[in-house]
Amino acid sequence: MNDTVRSRPAVLILLGPPGAGKGTQARMLEEGYGLIQLSTGDLLRAAVAAGTPAGLAAKSVMEAGGLVSDEIVLSILKDRMAEPDVAAGVILDGFPRTDAQAAALDALLAEAGQSIGAAISLEVEDEAMIARVAGRYTCAACGEGYHDEFKQPAQAGVCDKCGSLSFKRRADDTAETARQRLKAYHAQTAPLIAHYDRQGVLHRVDAMADIDTVRSSLGRVVTGLSA
Ligand code: ADP
Ligand code: ADP
Ligand code: ZN
Repeated sequence: MNDTVRSRPAVLILLGPPGAGKGTQARMLEEGYGLIQLSTGDLLRAAVAAGTPAGLAAKSVMEAGGLVSDEIVLSILKDRMAEPDVAAGVILDGFPRTDAQAAALDALLAEAGQSIGAAISLEVEDEAMIARVAGRYTCAACGEGYHDEFKQPAQAGVCDKCGSLSFKRRADDTAETARQRLKAYHAQTAPLIAHYDRQGVLHRVDAMADIDTVRSSLGRVVTGLSA
């Protein structure tokens, strides 16, 4: 973890189905490497909570486990990418999810003179994903992710990171919706793995391993890029 800010890649993409560990690993990469996590799921949930027109349009699609329209997602992403903090480098978590989003990202980066440092595919088995999604919860105050079985706070009911006693679960984290989301992943997002393989930026990481082992594997990828 001794990478310098100067040498890190500007844009990392985390690909993987719901529950693969994208959010968990993105937060750790953010802390370890000074990159900014940019989750389109989090941005969309914020838009839903704020009741913006985009949020209102996205809400029912998200609850059903489908993909929100490229138009809405791209508009939210472009707004976020225009903020100054992302110049430090970003980890895209949950974006792109369709061919059109990947093409739009390529164009956006080309325009800004940036490129993709790595697209990392978190490789997992479908059945494990349902259990990961159904057991997921987060700290309501700081957003730290937990799991009923795989990642419990050191002291029951108290967030390790911020001490909050308040936790929440996502409305779409039911086993049934998770199956719909997996279908959307296989139909629309998994083909992007080949897109990034053709660009020569693809890295595959075994994400069936425990959280710390996956973290080490990702660390090796990121450190290798910076060398
Ligand atoms: P994603 O962002 O890809 O949907 P998350 O990072 O939210 O996935 O992880 C889903 C759930 O699984 C969370 O409850 C998280 O604590 C847990 N989790 C993440 N990575 C692992 C892992 N390698 N092994 C077991 N559980 C994990
Ligand atoms: P997960 O971490 O479980 O993969 P996310 O938080 O990334 O879930 O996304 C939750 C939901 O938000 C998705 O099921 C989808 O409805 C919507 N969503 C998030 N990112 C995108 C995207 N890039 N394109 C379309 N829909 C998206
Ligand atoms: Zn917390």
